[in-house]
Amino acid sequence: MRLMDRTMKAYRVVEWQREPEVVEIPVPRPGPGEVVVKVSGNGLCHSDLVMPKMPKVFGDQLGWSMPFTLGHEVGGIVAAIGSGVQAVQEGDPVAVISAASCGACWYCLRGLDNACDHGLAGRGYGRDGGLADYVLVSSERALVRLKTLDPTIAGPLTDAGSTSYHAVKRVLPKLVPGSTAVVIGAGGLGSYAVQFLRATSSTTVIAVDQSAHRREVASSLGAHHSLDGVDGTTTATIRDLTNGRGADAVIDFVGIDASIDAGMAALAKAGSFGLVGSSGGRLTKPIYGGMARNAELFTFQGGCISDTREVIELAEAGLIKVTVDLFPFDQIAIAYERMEAGELTGRAVIQL
Ligand SMILES: [Zn+2]
Ligand SMILES: [Zn+2]
Repeated sequence: MRLMDRTMKAYRVVEWQREPEVVEIPVPRPGPGEVVVKVSGNGLCHSDLVMPKMPKVFGDQLGWSMPFTLGHEVGGIVAAIGSGVQAVQEGDPVAVISAASCGACWYCLRGLDNACDHGLAGRGYGRDGGLADYVLVSSERALVRLKTLDPTIAGPLTDAGSTSYHAVKRVLPKLVPGSTAVVIGAGGLGSYAVQFLRATSSTTVIAVDQSAHRREVASSLGAHHSLDGVDGTTTATIRDLTNGRGADAVIDFVGIDASIDAGMAALAKAGSFGLVGSSGGRLTKPIYGGMARNAELFTFQGGCISDTREVIELAEAGLIKVTVDLFPFDQIAIAYERMEAGELTGRAVIQL
């Protein structure tokens, strides 16, 4: 039987505000310019748990189709290519870019594809994603060929890794020798940030996290100092560690009022504050006068294609560690439970 005549299992959202289900659906066929990837591993993301709970009205606003297969951190092997595809061949190991983008809008053409005008729906969020045997990739732009990196563990680099890297890349011009960078929240994304900061700069890295285990992990990945959570003393401690000058960059992966307040107060003059954590925190001080002089504040969602390509280069070169906890397909629900309970060492990856 030909590949495309077969069916496959998929972990799907089949109706708004209902638990996802394992269903049997046809293996996708590649149209012109499209690629079908046999999934080797798909990383799980906290946002996967939010999507099925959304009301229909939100899904409609985002232009999402129902049903759709979850999973937006995919590594795999090219199984079939459509006419005109040149960048990959059948059998190539690849990572699939997580953030959707059109390649043609104002932002995409400037290399700011994580701000694409058409980026609200993508593989695993409103379109069929990687928690299935095969995934359809609409453009070869979305594929990164792997050299030695195992496609089973590459998925998390396309989302968790790339998002974190995007933040680090934005603050990198501030991280001259003698500088200091603070990472607030040293979980999945934050622990990547510690590694990227160490791999791409000579800055002193301070990791802040309330979990002793995550602080230990951050130290083992190269953080020079680690502080126990954000409280009334955090800003003063950061000032002490920087001879009173403050941090040249603060990347906040938590994003609550307390982390934003402490991080902004710890910023050195001309520093950069990057807000990644989507917890809805507010800045409770005036921006003018409340922020360090010449400082800047930025926020974004997801990484760019260039970020993913660079993250994969770092991993291929052995300059960052990719830590994952592997689960079989029939244990997806257990993997999400363990992720929510904070029991994992690395990113949960479903092996297919
Ligand atoms: Zn995600
Ligand atoms: Zn675009």
